[in-house]
Amino acid sequence: MRRERHPARRDALRSALAAEQLDGLIVTHLPNIRYLTGFSGTAGVVMVLREAVVLLTDFRYRTQAEAEVGDAVRLEVVPSDVWERLGHVLAEYPGTEALGYESQAVTVADAARFTRFNGRLRLRPVAHVVERLRVAKDADEVGAIRAAAGIAGEAVEATLRQVRVGLRELDVAALLESELRWRGSEWHPFPTIVASGPRSALPHARTSPRVLERGDWLLLDFGAQVDGYCADITRTVVVGAEPDERQQAVYHMVREAQQAARGAIRAGMTGRDADALARGVIEARGFGDAFGHSLGHGLGLEVHEGPRLSRANADPLPAHAVVTVEPGAYFPGWGGVRIEDDLYLGPQGAELLSDGRTELLVVG
Ligand code: ZN
Ligand code: ZN
Repeated sequence: MRRERHPARRDALRSALAAEQLDGLIVTHLPNIRYLTGFSGTAGVVMVLREAVVLLTDFRYRTQAEAEVGDAVRLEVVPSDVWERLGHVLAEYPGTEALGYESQAVTVADAARFTRFNGRLRLRPVAHVVERLRVAKDADEVGAIRAAAGIAGEAVEATLRQVRVGLRELDVAALLESELRWRGSEWHPFPTIVASGPRSALPHARTSPRVLERGDWLLLDFGAQVDGYCADITRTVVVGAEPDERQQAVYHMVREAQQAARGAIRAGMTGRDADALARGVIEARGFGDAFGHSLGHGLGLEVHEGPRLSRANADPLPAHAVVTVEPGAYFPGWGGVRIEDDLYLGPQGAELLSDGRTELLVVG
């Protein structure tokens, strides 16, 4: 991520804070810290004030923080108590009177320690201020997600070539995770789901030692990460035998639902209307009850972020968001199908970032 992106993000945050009558924000949620400063360590607190940006971290991250954040950020390497040091630093900025903190990220115990601060400060919990800024992606962010989705597509293709009857779900996950890493994925942004046979009916199955049998469904839901940005893909295939009639019918229904949503989703439509693009196809076949989750979610530095593509979201989808489109149909005891791709909601329409290769495959 180019460093010159970060000052503009901090200015956008300051405007959002001014609208809430706040002089600054204590940022503790790590993806928000990365978004605002570039710092990718796993311990730190950032204060964005009107006149300064301060990153407090510990000795382990001194070199990394210096390299990542640049001169515009004041770096404080704190030997022990971050909150105490934060109080001292704040005393140097007497113009700061009303200070927000992230209610969705600060623990009750940490919030209690804020009371040590200078009595002139008014501290106020605010939710998701930075997350709201993160929804609209810039070109670098879209590029990183596109790169992650490219790695994911190549990795699953290479994995499926190695799948055989007799492998365990864990073996398939090991192959997939290796293929992802070899191609440059920084990390698995969430635990890889490999679910076979009847277990594919569990939308969030844990990968198990179950052995693949001929004719099984094999569902792979996994991520890749580039520059901190996540892709999130699901593919469902049949192992070792031609799909039977029911498998074909269910698969083609889900695929048709996914293509309907992929083709018509736009920035500006509500999350509810986007969800209905796919749900309508499944409901029309009488299987609405089998699609028990929402259509998708935003993607970025976190694998689940705004906006939500769900019946509960009546807000318009913001332009420049990146979202997943992942309808499914699940039949306990028999199995399930989910197909997931990633799309950028550009001003000119939706653009597929993942490979979108969803024809029904027989592997092994
Ligand atoms: Zn997924
Ligand atoms: Zn997803």
